[in-house]
Amino acid sequence: MKQKFDAIVVGAGPAGSACGYSLAKSGLATLVVERGKFPGAKNMWGGVFYGPSLNQLFPGFWEEAPVERYILRHKFSLLAPESSFSTEFTTKKFGEPPYNGFSLLRSKFDRWFASKAEQAGAIIASGLQADDLLWDGKRVVGIKAGGDELPASVVIACDGVNSVLAEKAGLRGKFSPGDMKQGIKEIIQLPRDLIEQRFNLAGEEGVAWEFIGTFTRGIPGGAFIYTNKETLSVGIVVQLSELAEKKISANDLLEEFKQHPAVANLLADGKLAEYSAHLIPVGGKAMMPGLYKDGFLVAGDAAALILATGLAMEGANFAIASGLAAARTVIKAKKSGDFSEKSLSCYPELLGQSFVLKDLEAFKKAPHFLENPRVYSLYPQLACDLAERIFTNDGKARKKTWELLKQSMKDRVSFLQMIRDLIQIKRSI
Ligand SMILES: Cc1cc2nc3c(=O)[nH]c(=O)nc-3n(C[C@H](O)[C@H](O)[C@H](O)COP(=O)(O)OP(=O)(O)OC[C@H]3O[C@@H](n4cnc5c(N)ncnc54)[C@H](O)[C@@H]3O)c2cc1C
Repeated sequence: MKQKFDAIVVGAGPAGSACGYSLAKSGLATLVVERGKFPGAKNMWGGVFYGPSLNQLFPGFWEEAPVERYILRHKFSLLAPESSFSTEFTTKKFGEPPYNGFSLLRSKFDRWFASKAEQAGAIIASGLQADDLLWDGKRVVGIKAGGDELPASVVIACDGVNSVLAEKAGLRGKFSPGDMKQGIKEIIQLPRDLIEQRFNLAGEEGVAWEFIGTFTRGIPGGAFIYTNKETLSVGIVVQLSELAEKKISANDLLEEFKQHPAVANLLADGKLAEYSAHLIPVGGKAMMPGLYKDGFLVAGDAAALILATGLAMEGANFAIASGLAAARTVIKAKKSGDFSEKSLSCYPELLGQSFVLKDLEAFKKAPHFLENPRVYSLYPQLACDLAERIFTNDGKARKKTWELLKQSMKDRVSFLQMIRDLIQIKRSI
């Protein structure tokens, strides 16, 4: 007779490995099914990992996990076609344990994380895709994968943004393109010493650099450069619906970004090592689907549990925290021997006690504000134009800054509009 698992976790990304690890550690017979050749084989992201949830599981994880650099500095630049305006934040604190964030590469990290679940006792079945759910009436009782039926008391869908299983369970439809961003990313190889010179880094220090500006042609989104040990993660993230509407290729926008005078020198002589594309569910709390039903739970990107405030994109930490909350729900259900919808209904409560739902609630208006096209085109141009006027010395008498600001704003935006946008910022973030 086929083994019946207590739990089948679908997907060995951050949500799935956290969930699988926690379940196996509590002694539950756990199977983690991953369609990639190995965990992480198909996965991509920008690359800054915030570690508090992982640090709870493995204190001091950075000593053994394959992290690239700790993020000591955060830079933010506004790009106009030929100019740029940048700010930078750094603090000694970010360079000390437990550190604030790390750059890392998913192919190595996901593999490491899944190996921790395996060491805890979970079976990791790589190269196996879950195609469907097994049902007993209205109750999910396992999955169909690779032509086999695999029974389980509960299935946890950690299968990412396009979660087929959450759809099959009737908890969500396809996410709308208006709630999605298209991410594309290149990994660019550069010698370590060149990275450190160009980005003013020493040892294991790293920088996370975000950009918005005219290169997205008014489409909500931005670009990033994150430093790894011997590579750079370079990419853009732009609203999917507007790309389709305006018939613009995300790749063209990435090329435009890479050729900007403020960027090109940073990437010069780099060799393209990898290219990947992925969707991101950025609609916030409003797009969160149902999270559970009889014998079934959803975690991570599959449930759109990701924070995108414009200044921060945080998905992996949210995926881990939601995977852990799903595991706690299942461990409780196992104790009572009851995997019904009623028994699993404590899952949103557990999520509500953690930062996951608290942050999504606090920033629920951010997705709406982030659709404002002035943020991506007009304001970066305004900032660069004003800075150019302030710094230009043309041998004539200087004008007061207020006058220069009025000149920069002329025919572009009214004070009233700017104040309205500032109020919207205040309400959103
Ligand atoms: C361009 C880009 C930049 C980003 N930048 C950041 C960042 O800097 N910091 C950050 O924290 N987050 C970032 N994110 C978001 C982050 O990557 C996600 O929020 C996070 O990976 C979600 O984890 P997850 O485990 O829910 O899903 P995923 O990481 O997508 O993992 C899902 C797993 O399920 C597997 N799978 C899918 N379907 C099946 C199936 N049917 N059967 C078996 N296996 C299946 C997949 O192969 C995959 O391994 C970024 C995302 C993108 C696209």
